[in-house]
Amino acid sequence: MAEAFFTEQHELIRRLAHDFAQKELTKEVLDKVEETETFPEEILNKMAKAGFFGIKIPKELGGQGADARSYVLVMEEIAKVSGVASIYVSSPNSLSGGPLLLAGNDEQKEKYLRPVVTGQKKLAFALTEPGAGSDAGSVAATAKKEGDHYVLNGRKCFITMAPLSDYAVVFAKTDVTKGNRGLSAFVLDMHGEGVSCGKPENKMGVIGCATSDIIMDNAIIPQEDRLGEEGDGFKIAMQTLNTGRLGVAAQSIGVASGCLEEAVKYARERKQFGRTIGSFQAISFMIADMATKLEAAKQLVYKAAYMMDTRQDATLNASMAKYFASEVCNEIAQKAVQIHGGYGFIKDYKIERMFRDCRVFTIYEGTSQVQQMVIGGRLLKK
Ligand SMILES: Cc1cc2nc3c(=O)[nH]c(=O)nc-3n(C[C@H](O)[C@H](O)[C@H](O)COP(=O)(O)OP(=O)(O)OC[C@H]3O[C@@H](n4cnc5c(N)ncnc54)[C@H](O)[C@@H]3O)c2cc1C
Repeated sequence: MAEAFFTEQHELIRRLAHDFAQKELTKEVLDKVEETETFPEEILNKMAKAGFFGIKIPKELGGQGADARSYVLVMEEIAKVSGVASIYVSSPNSLSGGPLLLAGNDEQKEKYLRPVVTGQKKLAFALTEPGAGSDAGSVAATAKKEGDHYVLNGRKCFITMAPLSDYAVVFAKTDVTKGNRGLSAFVLDMHGEGVSCGKPENKMGVIGCATSDIIMDNAIIPQEDRLGEEGDGFKIAMQTLNTGRLGVAAQSIGVASGCLEEAVKYARERKQFGRTIGSFQAISFMIADMATKLEAAKQLVYKAAYMMDTRQDATLNASMAKYFASEVCNEIAQKAVQIHGGYGFIKDYKIERMFRDCRVFTIYEGTSQVQQMVIGGRLLKK
């Protein structure tokens, strides 16, 4: 069924990403990433060379100009092996590149997007604040216009890649009296005066892609680095997230596929009571359940991508895909650990890392409850 959504060209892209992940993202490399909490620049450069940072970015900006389905396939194949590696793919293609594609002018795209596609620069997306998580409209950071520039003050938190980034797309209020309509988007120079990062968070999973606060203390942003018009920020953030969710959905089916593969392999090998554990109905039913839910999640993700590629409104479907795939991924990872017994709890086994990595999928880019709000809200709208 999944094949119906894809062409031969898509399958070639899937094969490219699959081969890359198998060759480069070995267990030794990934163990080292966990140990050092750092992702090797050498592999990031190879990912850039393979075109993974610009899958959806137009060719004129150095990208591949490919579609959402190609993006999903690359994300899935990379995440199957490494959740954290897939974050490096999703960021430029989705959350951080998205606002520039949506609202950037030619100069801004050339200046900020092209070097991200080639891997020379890193760009973060900074919306969340200590007091503004699910309720993104309650951002408290301010941007005050002074002559030809803005002065930004405030604190962003949980920002993926912040300590590694050269720039960040930040959202701040240019008019605090206007609520959501007072929010504007800017490109912040992370090395500029008045900009600093908090200490990297000590996370449960996706270790190797630092997450931290961004503190803006009278940070200066020239007005030419504002994205869109004043007041466009909320729209830019929501539109970016609406389609960006597809990335987390793809990440989820990738990690879930990896977990299922590991569980099947283990159930075929491990013997207890003189038989392989896979020959016990309790284990085979668990595997049947995992495979069925994964297949259902894949269909939702592929359909949402197909709808985006055929210019249909995919907001509802992307939310459904993110909600279902991330929840199912956590369920599959939990069962895969169970199938591994005590070994699943030990770091020597890949499944231990996968279980931790996917925990955040139901949280970032809109929690499961936020997705339910989007889905329910759409269906109940009069
Ligand atoms: C590893 C990691 C990376 C991240 N990267 C980024 C990034 O790059 N950029 C960025 O801007 N943000 C990032 N985030 C932030 C992330 O998007 C937020 O954590 C998320 O949106 C939830 O916000 P919160 O943590 O403040 O939780 P809250 O919004 O405080 O939610 C707490 C709980 O309440 C529930 N809840 C809240 N409101 C409602 C409601 N109305 N109805 C029902 N339930 C509700 C939530 O679902 C959740 O279960 C990242 C977070 C993590 C952990």
